[in-house]
Amino acid sequence: MKAAIIHAPRDLRIEEADIPAMGPRDVKVRIRAGGICGSDLHYYLHGGFGAVRLRQPMILGHEIAGEVMEVGAEVTRIRAGDRVAVNPSQPCGHCRFCLEGRANHCLDMRFYGSAMRMPHVQGGFREVLVCGEAQAVPIPPGLTLEIAAFAEPLSVCLHAARQAGSLLGKRVLVTGTGPIGALAILVARQAGAREVVATDITDAPLAVARGIGADTALNTASDPEALTRFKADKGYFDTVFEASGSGIALAGALEVTRPAGVIVQLGLGGGDMTLPVNLLVSKEISLRGTFRFHEEFAWAVDFLAAGAIDVSPLLTEIVPLAEAVRAFDLAADRTRAMKVQLAF
Ligand code: ZN
Repeated sequence: MKAAIIHAPRDLRIEEADIPAMGPRDVKVRIRAGGICGSDLHYYLHGGFGAVRLRQPMILGHEIAGEVMEVGAEVTRIRAGDRVAVNPSQPCGHCRFCLEGRANHCLDMRFYGSAMRMPHVQGGFREVLVCGEAQAVPIPPGLTLEIAAFAEPLSVCLHAARQAGSLLGKRVLVTGTGPIGALAILVARQAGAREVVATDITDAPLAVARGIGADTALNTASDPEALTRFKADKGYFDTVFEASGSGIALAGALEVTRPAGVIVQLGLGGGDMTLPVNLLVSKEISLRGTFRFHEEFAWAVDFLAAGAIDVSPLLTEIVPLAEAVRAFDLAADRTRAMKVQLAF
Protein backbone atom coordinates (compact mmCIF):
# COMPACT_ATOMS: atom_id res chain seq x y z
CA MET A 1 0.00 0.00 0.00
CA LYS A 2 1.21 3.47 -0.85
CA ALA A 3 0.70 6.47 1.42
CA ALA A 4 1.52 10.21 1.42
CA ILE A 5 3.87 10.64 4.36
CA ILE A 6 5.17 13.98 5.64
CA HIS A 7 8.68 13.80 7.14
CA ALA A 8 9.51 17.49 7.56
CA PRO A 9 8.45 20.81 6.00
CA ARG A 10 8.42 20.43 2.18
CA ASP A 11 9.43 16.78 2.56
CA LEU A 12 6.34 14.83 1.47
CA ARG A 13 7.02 11.33 0.19
CA ILE A 14 4.93 8.63 -1.43
CA GLU A 15 6.08 5.52 0.39
CA GLU A 16 5.04 1.97 1.07
CA ALA A 17 3.24 1.49 4.39
CA ASP A 18 1.82 -1.57 6.12
CA ILE A 19 -1.90 -2.24 6.09
CA PRO A 20 -2.96 -2.35 9.75
CA ALA A 21 -4.51 -5.53 11.16
CA MET A 22 -8.31 -5.61 11.34
CA GLY A 23 -10.29 -6.07 14.53
CA PRO A 24 -13.74 -7.69 14.63
CA ARG A 25 -15.50 -4.30 14.56
CA ASP A 26 -13.30 -2.75 11.86
CA VAL A 27 -13.82 -2.22 8.16
CA LYS A 28 -11.14 -2.09 5.48
CA VAL A 29 -11.63 0.72 2.98
CA ARG A 30 -10.01 1.19 -0.43
CA ILE A 31 -9.56 4.96 -0.30
CA ARG A 32 -10.40 6.70 -3.58
CA ALA A 33 -10.63 10.43 -2.84
CA GLY A 34 -8.83 12.63 -0.31
CA GLY A 35 -9.18 16.41 0.03
CA ILE A 36 -6.17 18.48 1.08
CA CYS A 37 -7.08 20.60 4.12
CA GLY A 38 -5.49 23.70 5.58
CA SER A 39 -3.98 21.66 8.42
CA ASP A 40 -2.38 19.24 5.92
CA LEU A 41 -0.88 22.31 4.25
CA HIS A 42 0.44 23.60 7.59
CA TYR A 43 2.31 20.32 8.13
CA TYR A 44 3.57 20.41 4.54
CA LEU A 45 4.69 24.05 4.53
CA HIS A 46 5.69 24.63 8.17
CA GLY A 47 5.86 21.23 9.90
CA GLY A 48 2.84 22.07 12.07
CA PHE A 49 0.93 24.99 13.56
CA GLY A 50 1.13 26.69 16.94
CA ALA A 51 2.38 24.21 19.55
CA VAL A 52 1.49 21.22 17.34
CA ARG A 53 4.72 20.13 15.65
CA LEU A 54 5.65 17.13 13.56
CA ARG A 55 7.90 14.89 15.66
CA GLN A 56 7.80 11.71 13.56
CA PRO A 57 6.78 10.81 10.00
CA MET A 58 3.01 10.95 9.59
CA ILE A 59 0.51 10.00 6.90
CA LEU A 60 -1.48 13.17 6.17
CA GLY A 61 -5.16 13.48 5.35
CA HIS A 62 -8.57 13.39 6.98
CA GLU A 63 -11.08 14.28 4.20
CA ILE A 64 -11.52 10.83 2.71
CA ALA A 65 -13.96 8.49 1.02
CA GLY A 66 -13.69 5.07 -0.59
CA GLU A 67 -15.07 1.56 -1.11
CA VAL A 68 -15.34 -1.09 1.59
CA MET A 69 -13.16 -4.12 0.78
CA GLU A 70 -13.77 -6.27 3.83
CA VAL A 71 -15.55 -6.11 7.19
CA GLY A 72 -14.78 -7.66 10.58
CA ALA A 73 -16.85 -10.53 11.99
CA GLU A 74 -18.88 -8.32 14.37
CA VAL A 75 -19.68 -5.56 11.84
CA THR A 76 -23.41 -5.41 11.13
CA ARG A 77 -24.11 -2.06 9.46
CA ILE A 78 -21.54 -2.07 6.62
CA ARG A 79 -20.91 -4.61 3.88
CA ALA A 80 -18.08 -5.21 1.44
CA GLY A 81 -18.78 -3.15 -1.67
CA ASP A 82 -20.42 -0.28 0.19
CA ARG A 83 -19.18 3.18 -0.68
CA VAL A 84 -18.43 5.27 2.40
CA ALA A 85 -17.34 8.67 3.61
CA VAL A 86 -14.88 8.11 6.46
CA ASN A 87 -15.25 10.15 9.63
CA PRO A 88 -11.65 10.89 10.73
CA SER A 89 -12.70 11.52 14.33
CA GLN A 90 -12.25 8.74 16.90
CA PRO A 91 -13.44 9.94 20.30
CA CYS A 92 -12.89 7.51 23.19
CA GLY A 93 -16.60 7.21 24.02
CA HIS A 94 -16.19 7.12 27.79
CA CYS A 95 -14.48 10.31 29.02
CA ARG A 96 -16.58 13.00 30.70
CA PHE A 97 -17.02 15.03 27.50
CA CYS A 98 -17.93 12.00 25.38
CA LEU A 99 -20.53 11.08 28.01
CA GLU A 100 -21.88 14.65 27.93
CA GLY A 101 -22.41 14.38 24.15
CA ARG A 102 -19.51 16.72 23.41
CA ALA A 103 -17.28 14.17 21.73
CA ASN A 104 -15.39 16.85 19.80
CA HIS A 105 -13.84 17.74 23.19
CA CYS A 106 -12.88 14.13 23.98
CA LEU A 107 -9.96 13.92 26.40
CA ASP A 108 -8.49 11.01 24.46
CA MET A 109 -9.32 12.00 20.87
CA ARG A 110 -7.58 10.28 17.99
CA PHE A 111 -8.06 12.36 14.83
CA TYR A 112 -6.54 11.23 11.53
CA GLY A 113 -3.41 12.96 10.36
CA SER A 114 -2.85 14.89 13.58
CA ALA A 115 0.45 15.47 15.39
CA MET A 116 -1.31 16.65 18.57
CA ARG A 117 -0.42 13.42 20.37
CA MET A 118 2.55 11.06 20.45
CA PRO A 119 2.72 8.79 18.64
CA HIS A 120 0.98 10.84 15.97
CA VAL A 121 -2.34 9.57 14.64
CA GLN A 122 -1.68 8.43 11.09
CA GLY A 123 -3.98 9.88 8.46
CA GLY A 124 -6.06 8.78 5.52
CA PHE A 125 -3.96 9.63 2.44
CA ARG A 126 -3.27 5.96 1.78
CA GLU A 127 -4.57 3.33 -0.58
CA VAL A 128 -6.03 1.13 2.15
CA LEU A 129 -7.41 2.26 5.50
CA VAL A 130 -8.73 0.22 8.43
CA CYS A 131 -11.28 2.14 10.51
CA GLY A 132 -14.01 1.44 13.03
CA GLU A 133 -17.47 0.57 11.76
CA ALA A 134 -18.90 3.73 13.31
CA GLN A 135 -16.50 5.88 11.27
CA ALA A 136 -17.71 4.57 7.92
CA VAL A 137 -20.85 6.35 6.75
CA PRO A 138 -22.45 4.73 3.68
CA ILE A 139 -23.30 7.03 0.79
CA PRO A 140 -26.11 6.54 -1.76
CA PRO A 141 -25.47 5.65 -5.44
CA GLY A 142 -25.92 9.19 -6.76
CA LEU A 143 -23.13 10.67 -4.64
CA THR A 144 -19.58 10.51 -6.02
CA LEU A 145 -16.67 9.68 -3.71
CA GLU A 146 -15.07 13.02 -4.60
CA ILE A 147 -18.10 14.94 -3.34
CA ALA A 148 -18.43 12.59 -0.36
CA ALA A 149 -14.87 13.56 0.65
CA PHE A 150 -16.27 17.04 1.37
CA ALA A 151 -18.31 15.63 4.26
CA GLU A 152 -15.54 16.37 6.77
CA PRO A 153 -14.97 20.08 6.04
CA LEU A 154 -18.72 20.55 5.58
CA SER A 155 -19.34 19.08 9.02
CA VAL A 156 -16.88 21.59 10.47
CA CYS A 157 -19.04 24.38 9.01
CA LEU A 158 -22.31 22.79 10.12
CA HIS A 159 -20.95 22.67 13.66
CA ALA A 160 -19.87 26.32 13.35
CA ALA A 161 -23.38 27.25 12.20
CA ARG A 162 -24.82 25.57 15.29
CA GLN A 163 -22.45 27.62 17.42
CA ALA A 164 -23.88 30.73 15.72
CA GLY A 165 -27.51 29.87 16.46
CA SER A 166 -30.35 30.46 13.99
CA LEU A 167 -29.27 32.12 10.75
CA LEU A 168 -32.81 32.58 9.43
CA GLY A 169 -33.20 36.15 8.23
CA LYS A 170 -29.73 37.11 9.42
CA ARG A 171 -27.18 39.31 7.71
CA VAL A 172 -24.00 37.24 7.65
CA LEU A 173 -20.38 38.19 7.06
CA VAL A 174 -17.81 35.53 6.16
CA THR A 175 -14.20 36.70 6.46
CA GLY A 176 -11.76 34.48 4.57
CA THR A 177 -13.15 32.53 1.62
CA GLY A 178 -10.88 29.51 1.42
CA PRO A 179 -12.63 26.13 1.43
CA ILE A 180 -13.96 26.56 5.00
CA GLY A 181 -15.21 30.11 4.39
CA ALA A 182 -16.80 28.99 1.12
CA LEU A 183 -18.55 26.09 2.86
CA ALA A 184 -19.72 28.53 5.56
CA ILE A 185 -21.35 30.61 2.80
CA LEU A 186 -23.14 27.51 1.47
CA VAL A 187 -24.30 26.56 4.98
CA ALA A 188 -25.49 30.11 5.75
CA ARG A 189 -27.53 30.09 2.53
CA GLN A 190 -29.01 26.69 3.35
CA ALA A 191 -29.84 27.93 6.85
CA GLY A 192 -31.84 30.91 5.59
CA ALA A 193 -29.46 33.87 5.80
CA ARG A 194 -31.02 37.03 4.36
CA GLU A 195 -27.74 38.44 3.07
CA VAL A 196 -24.22 37.03 2.85
CA VAL A 197 -21.17 39.26 2.43
CA ALA A 198 -17.73 37.68 1.99
CA THR A 199 -14.25 39.14 2.30
CA ASP A 200 -10.81 37.90 1.38
CA ILE A 201 -7.44 39.32 0.38
CA THR A 202 -7.26 37.36 -2.91
CA ASP A 203 -9.58 37.80 -5.90
CA ALA A 204 -9.82 34.18 -7.09
CA PRO A 205 -11.60 32.75 -4.02
CA LEU A 206 -13.89 35.80 -3.95
CA ALA A 207 -15.04 34.92 -7.46
CA VAL A 208 -15.90 31.43 -6.20
CA ALA A 209 -17.73 33.00 -3.23
CA ARG A 210 -19.89 35.03 -5.63
CA GLY A 211 -20.57 31.92 -7.69
CA ILE A 212 -21.85 29.91 -4.73
CA GLY A 213 -24.20 32.50 -3.29
CA ALA A 214 -22.43 35.40 -1.60
CA ASP A 215 -24.40 38.58 -2.42
CA THR A 216 -21.27 40.69 -2.15
CA ALA A 217 -17.60 39.65 -2.20
CA LEU A 218 -15.03 42.25 -1.22
CA ASN A 219 -11.24 42.31 -1.47
CA THR A 220 -10.01 43.96 1.74
CA ALA A 221 -6.40 44.01 0.53
CA SER A 222 -6.98 46.00 -2.64
CA ASP A 223 -9.67 48.09 -0.88
CA PRO A 224 -8.92 48.40 2.87
CA GLU A 225 -12.08 50.53 3.28
CA ALA A 226 -14.35 47.91 1.72
CA LEU A 227 -16.16 47.21 5.01
CA THR A 228 -16.35 50.84 6.20
CA ARG A 229 -19.97 51.34 5.12
CA PHE A 230 -20.99 48.44 7.38
CA LYS A 231 -19.67 50.19 10.52
CA ALA A 232 -22.47 52.81 10.56
CA ASP A 233 -25.00 52.85 13.40
CA LYS A 234 -23.03 50.40 15.57
CA GLY A 235 -22.61 47.79 12.86
CA TYR A 236 -24.56 45.88 10.24
CA PHE A 237 -24.05 42.13 10.59
CA ASP A 238 -25.94 39.83 12.92
CA THR A 239 -23.49 36.97 12.53
CA VAL A 240 -19.89 36.66 11.43
CA PHE A 241 -17.96 33.52 10.50
CA GLU A 242 -14.30 34.44 10.83
CA ALA A 243 -12.57 31.84 8.67
CA SER A 244 -9.24 33.51 7.97
CA GLY A 245 -7.51 33.19 11.34
CA SER A 246 -6.31 36.78 10.90
CA GLY A 247 -6.33 39.16 13.85
CA ILE A 248 -6.96 42.03 11.45
CA ALA A 249 -10.07 40.30 10.11
CA LEU A 250 -11.40 39.60 13.61
CA ALA A 251 -10.79 43.17 14.78
CA GLY A 252 -12.55 44.41 11.65
CA ALA A 253 -15.45 42.04 12.30
CA LEU A 254 -15.99 43.56 15.76
CA GLU A 255 -16.46 46.96 14.11
CA VAL A 256 -19.14 45.79 11.67
CA THR A 257 -21.09 43.46 13.98
CA ARG A 258 -24.26 44.97 15.41
CA PRO A 259 -25.05 44.99 19.13
CA ALA A 260 -25.86 41.51 20.48
CA GLY A 261 -24.40 39.96 17.34
CA VAL A 262 -22.39 36.74 17.26
CA ILE A 263 -18.91 36.15 15.90
CA VAL A 264 -17.89 32.52 15.40
CA GLN A 265 -14.12 32.09 15.17
CA LEU A 266 -13.44 29.25 12.73
CA GLY A 267 -9.94 30.15 11.57
CA LEU A 268 -7.01 29.14 13.74
CA GLY A 269 -4.57 31.99 14.14
CA GLY A 270 -0.83 31.59 14.06
CA GLY A 271 -0.68 32.68 17.69
CA ASP A 272 -2.17 35.21 20.09
CA MET A 273 -4.28 38.11 18.78
CA THR A 274 -4.88 41.63 20.05
CA LEU A 275 -8.54 42.64 19.99
CA PRO A 276 -10.52 45.88 20.46
CA VAL A 277 -12.17 44.37 23.56
CA ASN A 278 -14.10 47.57 24.29
CA LEU A 279 -16.17 46.97 21.15
CA LEU A 280 -16.96 43.44 22.30
CA VAL A 281 -18.01 44.76 25.72
CA SER A 282 -19.99 47.83 24.68
CA LYS A 283 -21.86 46.11 21.84
CA GLU A 284 -22.45 42.94 23.88
CA ILE A 285 -21.01 40.84 21.08
CA SER A 286 -20.68 37.11 21.65
CA LEU A 287 -17.34 35.76 20.43
CA ARG A 288 -17.53 31.98 20.12
CA GLY A 289 -15.05 29.30 19.21
CA THR A 290 -15.91 26.22 17.17
CA PHE A 291 -13.88 23.03 17.02
CA ARG A 292 -14.34 20.10 14.67
CA PHE A 293 -17.76 18.33 14.81
CA HIS A 294 -19.46 15.16 15.93
CA GLU A 295 -22.96 14.19 14.82
CA GLU A 296 -22.74 16.80 12.06
CA PHE A 297 -20.68 14.36 9.94
CA ALA A 298 -23.76 12.26 9.19
CA TRP A 299 -25.74 15.45 8.50
CA ALA A 300 -23.09 16.56 6.02
CA VAL A 301 -23.36 13.25 4.13
CA ASP A 302 -27.14 13.68 3.96
CA PHE A 303 -26.91 17.29 2.73
CA LEU A 304 -24.43 16.26 0.03
CA ALA A 305 -26.43 13.17 -0.97
CA ALA A 306 -29.64 15.18 -1.28
CA GLY A 307 -27.92 17.87 -3.32
CA ALA A 308 -29.09 20.42 -0.75
CA ILE A 309 -25.55 21.78 -0.53
CA ASP A 310 -23.61 21.77 -3.81
CA VAL A 311 -19.89 21.78 -3.13
CA SER A 312 -18.85 20.92 -6.69
CA PRO A 313 -17.79 24.52 -7.57
CA LEU A 314 -15.14 24.23 -4.82
CA LEU A 315 -13.29 21.28 -6.36
CA THR A 316 -10.35 22.73 -8.28
CA GLU A 317 -8.52 19.62 -9.44
CA ILE A 318 -8.12 15.91 -8.73
CA VAL A 319 -4.44 14.92 -8.77
CA PRO A 320 -3.06 11.34 -8.78
CA LEU A 321 -1.35 10.27 -5.54
CA ALA A 322 1.98 9.93 -7.39
CA GLU A 323 1.88 13.72 -7.96
CA ALA A 324 1.05 14.57 -4.35
CA VAL A 325 3.80 17.20 -4.11
CA ARG A 326 2.33 19.04 -7.10
CA ALA A 327 -1.12 18.71 -5.51
CA PHE A 328 0.09 20.28 -2.25
CA ASP A 329 1.87 23.11 -4.07
CA LEU A 330 -1.30 23.77 -6.05
CA ALA A 331 -3.46 23.68 -2.91
CA ALA A 332 -1.15 26.21 -1.26
CA ASP A 333 -1.63 28.69 -4.11
CA ARG A 334 -4.82 30.57 -3.36
CA THR A 335 -4.74 32.36 -6.70
CA ARG A 336 -5.24 29.00 -8.44
CA ALA A 337 -6.84 26.60 -6.01
CA MET A 338 -9.84 26.21 -3.73
CA LYS A 339 -10.04 22.48 -2.87
CA VAL A 340 -7.49 20.08 -4.34
CA GLN A 341 -8.03 16.33 -3.96
CA LEU A 342 -5.77 13.33 -4.31
CA ALA A 343 -7.00 10.29 -6.26
CA PHE A 344 -5.84 6.92 -4.94
ZN1 ZN B 1 -13.72 10.83 25.11
